[in-house]
Amino acid sequence: MATAAAGSFTRRTLLAPVTVPGIGIHSGEPVKATLVPAGEPGGGVVFRVGPGAQEIPARASNVTDTRRCTVLGSGGAGAGVATVEHLLSALAGVGVTDCFVDVDGPELPIGDGSARLWVEAVGKAGVRDLAGAWTGAEPIAPREPILVPGAGGAFITCFPSDSLRLTVVIAFEHPLVGTQAARWDPAGGDDYASEIAGARTFGFIEEVEALRAAGLARGGSLDNAVVVYPDRFSTPPRFANEMARHKLLDLLGDLSLAGRPVVADIVAHRPSHRLNTEFARLLERGVGA
Ligand SMILES: [Zn+2]
Repeated sequence: MATAAAGSFTRRTLLAPVTVPGIGIHSGEPVKATLVPAGEPGGGVVFRVGPGAQEIPARASNVTDTRRCTVLGSGGAGAGVATVEHLLSALAGVGVTDCFVDVDGPELPIGDGSARLWVEAVGKAGVRDLAGAWTGAEPIAPREPILVPGAGGAFITCFPSDSLRLTVVIAFEHPLVGTQAARWDPAGGDDYASEIAGARTFGFIEEVEALRAAGLARGGSLDNAVVVYPDRFSTPPRFANEMARHKLLDLLGDLSLAGRPVVADIVAHRPSHRLNTEFARLLERGVGA
């Protein structure tokens, strides 16, 4: 668990490297990512991209775009990597705090649009505790509430807590979606792999058509996203509130960009990558501490 009480969590990495092949949802190109164990003393999650294996730490300060997914880069004309949120969510969800991610393309493989491919990869690689105690930093445990408002009534807020809890509410004017809520309380026994990881990316058909017309979502298919039509879903939902669970999955991934495990009760209403990463940036900077 990445969610031990403040001041007492364990850093964890992989036992062996594991390679995950697939396609990028935006480029439609084949890509592969290799998760590589970190050595002592660890240094968080670090992407290695481009010809020179340029290192990009998974930190909110390295976010370069949040319009369709979360993109990390080194700024300027340097290399970047897109669609990092599902991998980061899986790592946080199963408690892996430190590893390298070698990427041979501009974005991570999308799998089935959920975080299952990454949870399975970590399961295949195995995990081990890093020997040293957490060095350099304690978990982020805000003592004051933080409220970050977004557009259209969206917000994220957090309250002091002795463990991490996430609650997400989404609201769409669509008869099959409406208002959905999802909650994840790992200290209370909620299992990430079975409750959250399987929730897939979704898109409304009019958005999907607009993205395709703009030359985006080229790798998008009925195998890696749930398409919402006016009167039906493209495939049966895995959970009644699958969309809210997916937004929670995304939120957990984006929150990990704070750079350290977060210990707080977090409530997000209509979250977006932009709002999530803004919140992570505040946590990274010590707001509310
Ligand atoms: Zn997502």
